[in-house]
Amino acid sequence: MPELPEVETVRRGLETTILGRRVRDVAIRAPALRWPIPADIGRLLPGRDIASIRRRGKYLLLGMEPGTLIVHLGMSGNHVFRHDPPPPGRHDHFDIVFDHGIARLNDPRRFGAVLWHARELGPVEQHPLLAGLGIEPFSEAFDGRHLHRASRGRMASVKQFLLAGAAVVGVGNIYASESLHRAGIRPTRAAGAIGLHRYELLAEAIRATLGEAIEMGGTTLRDFAGPDGVGGYFQLACRVYGREGLACGRCGGTVRRIVQQQRATYFCPGCQR
Ligand SMILES: [Zn+2]
Repeated sequence: MPELPEVETVRRGLETTILGRRVRDVAIRAPALRWPIPADIGRLLPGRDIASIRRRGKYLLLGMEPGTLIVHLGMSGNHVFRHDPPPPGRHDHFDIVFDHGIARLNDPRRFGAVLWHARELGPVEQHPLLAGLGIEPFSEAFDGRHLHRASRGRMASVKQFLLAGAAVVGVGNIYASESLHRAGIRPTRAAGAIGLHRYELLAEAIRATLGEAIEMGGTTLRDFAGPDGVGGYFQLACRVYGREGLACGRCGGTVRRIVQQQRATYFCPGCQR
């Protein structure tokens, strides 16, 4: 599933290829995604320049004069630019056509979304899908103090607190296990019972973990953008995730796997307290 680092890599890929370019046409081939692709973007987009390409959480935001196209990659999606596109396959739902190529949305499992937010509705950040998102892990507002404040009174586990996304976006299941290991925090610990200093370590660990994945994304973009559109997501060099029964690289303890809210959690009982 595309997580924040993959979406950021897609964003950078689109930025280098279509930013400032004029849309010539759009092709809505299979509108049935999570919500139907709005038909009127076929009328709204042609002739418009791509003025900005931003990311909020896992949403790509393509800014144009009359509004913003919101793209979500769902469980299996990819949105890449091709100078010389092959004929569309059955999972190629949507193309934005430029003079120099196309930006194509491929989504085999159809949990993705393409939505339009008209400028007159106000800033796109107020869109219902975006308004409740936590802050960005690479923003200045994100630090241990923020996590500490947001977690006071929370009985849920710290892993659940991260996954919920209300405090910080982008810490998906793998990144939660990896960040908590890096910070030496046991994933089952109640979020509200963790002190400021440990949250400072965790904030740093989250930035480092996501940052490494984004770096890796830059080097594996070719794989990620593979023609089948699936199976090419980043293989983070994991310290605990997927390593049940193997030795912890930090303390030599044995990595354990547990299940929290139906999701696998990996941690080292030796160095995560
Ligand atoms: Zn350990």
